[in-house]
Amino acid sequence: MLLKDLLETNIDKHGEYPFLFFKDHSYTSTETRVFSEQFANGLIEMGIEKGDRVIVCMPNCPEVLFAYQGITRAGAVIVPVMFMLHPREIHFIARNSGAKAIITSSHILQHVDMALEGLSSKPTVIVVDVATNEKAYNFYDVMKKHTSVERELAEGLDENDAAIILYTSGTTGNPKGVVLTHKNLFSNAANSCEHSKTEQGTTLGVLPLAHVYGLTISNICYLTGSSIVIFPKFDLNEVFAAIEKYQVKSFSAVPAMIHAMLSFPKADDYDISCLESVSSGSAPLPVALIHGFKQKFGADVQEGYGLSEAAPIVTAHGKGATIKPGSVGTPIPGVEIRIVNEEGVELPRGEVGELIVRGANVTSGYFQNEEETNRVLKDGWLFTGDMGRMDEDDYLYIVDRKKDLIIRGGFNLYPRDVEEILNTHKGVSEVAVIGIPDERMGEEMVACVVRKQDSDVTEQELIAFCQERLAKHKTPRKVLFLESLPRNGVGKILKTHLRQTAADLDS
Ligand code: ATP
Repeated sequence: MLLKDLLETNIDKHGEYPFLFFKDHSYTSTETRVFSEQFANGLIEMGIEKGDRVIVCMPNCPEVLFAYQGITRAGAVIVPVMFMLHPREIHFIARNSGAKAIITSSHILQHVDMALEGLSSKPTVIVVDVATNEKAYNFYDVMKKHTSVERELAEGLDENDAAIILYTSGTTGNPKGVVLTHKNLFSNAANSCEHSKTEQGTTLGVLPLAHVYGLTISNICYLTGSSIVIFPKFDLNEVFAAIEKYQVKSFSAVPAMIHAMLSFPKADDYDISCLESVSSGSAPLPVALIHGFKQKFGADVQEGYGLSEAAPIVTAHGKGATIKPGSVGTPIPGVEIRIVNEEGVELPRGEVGELIVRGANVTSGYFQNEEETNRVLKDGWLFTGDMGRMDEDDYLYIVDRKKDLIIRGGFNLYPRDVEEILNTHKGVSEVAVIGIPDERMGEEMVACVVRKQDSDVTEQELIAFCQERLAKHKTPRKVLFLESLPRNGVGKILKTHLRQTAADLDS
């Protein structure tokens, strides 16, 4: 199956229905196909060929989805890029992918212009909300370029062809382009629906469509005949209003969004009793949030786990399965997982080791980067760089990222253990625990804390709180109070930035 078949099957099975809501507009499934086909034709007319890379870099808007379907129908490869990236990062992606075109919006056009400076071969710029001029085409003018289908769209495409190249955030070096085939993406969306028995309904697209998690939610909507309300940014009033208006039963989010919903002072202005569950992924979900959310809104928060290289879903809480707070659920169908030691040998249940993953969803590798590909892919297994353990019921627990592990005086310390404890303190709004270099111990543990608005909790109090609940060597030596935690486009805490901040303050 190809990516375009998601929409084809949707229309065959569910006919024409309002598929996409954005601000005051709605678009039916059939309109989505028409726009996509016209855009595909326009791209072909502009010289885009099978396998060419086309960047899509803008906040969530309907044209992102039209562009994705259009690019794939033209046989080209989608390169989704988070719009808030620095021009330097966009420049790297444009150069590395050799993109032929870039689709963007006026909002970030200046950034894109800066990013494209110095490229030997400049991609054609297509802007959704600016009239065609000497520098760029308007998106809808591209559609008008050619409206009659002369060539069979997606001609010669195979499910093992690349559909998308997703650049990782590159926290530890230059971003790497994860190549995902049609098969990787299609199988993952289908298996995830089977696992969670996802029902037809209206869901929220609060996650960036440029991120693999957000993109998959739209694929799942095509598969289940569901509708999606998309937002250019996570605005709490709009999100609460949309849940009430569209009677949303479930949606997917990241922990930072769930945290923000729970702390929203105007939550009681809305009736969101229709909400049954929220799926959380992409970063650790503090257990305290699960309980808090259930108590306040009566809805379950179910954690899942995935990564770009696995297209992305690896585990989730299955439909009707017991929710185990702290666990990311069980592997979805068609995905195998193992916990292994440094030598790649499988460990007994309960022991912590690196998580490896195998299945039709796993990437074929990084774009033109054999060295990195060989580092993470071995005998069909993807080495995730995440540390975890499995319990007797096949539930997976992510302990931490290998690179976030703190080695203090020879002991392996997992920041997450300490974060879970500090998250239960009434004066703590958010916390991230990191290791900083220390002459005596190798590394020392520092807790970066954002206090609750009315709290004046002190370093000594928080250290004492940990000492009462954790082994002595697991207690942070220092607490750093911050106004907020640095986060990336999907709300993931950037621990590399925190390590730098902590080191700067220490010197
Ligand atoms: P980079 O690898 O360059 O830092 P990234 O983190 O943005 O990029 P993604 O593919 O977006 O890459 O994220 C995948 C990672 O997110 C996983 O490897 C894991 O560390 C983390 N993650 C995802 N879900 C969870 C979860 N439920 N709990 C803890 N960590 C999670």
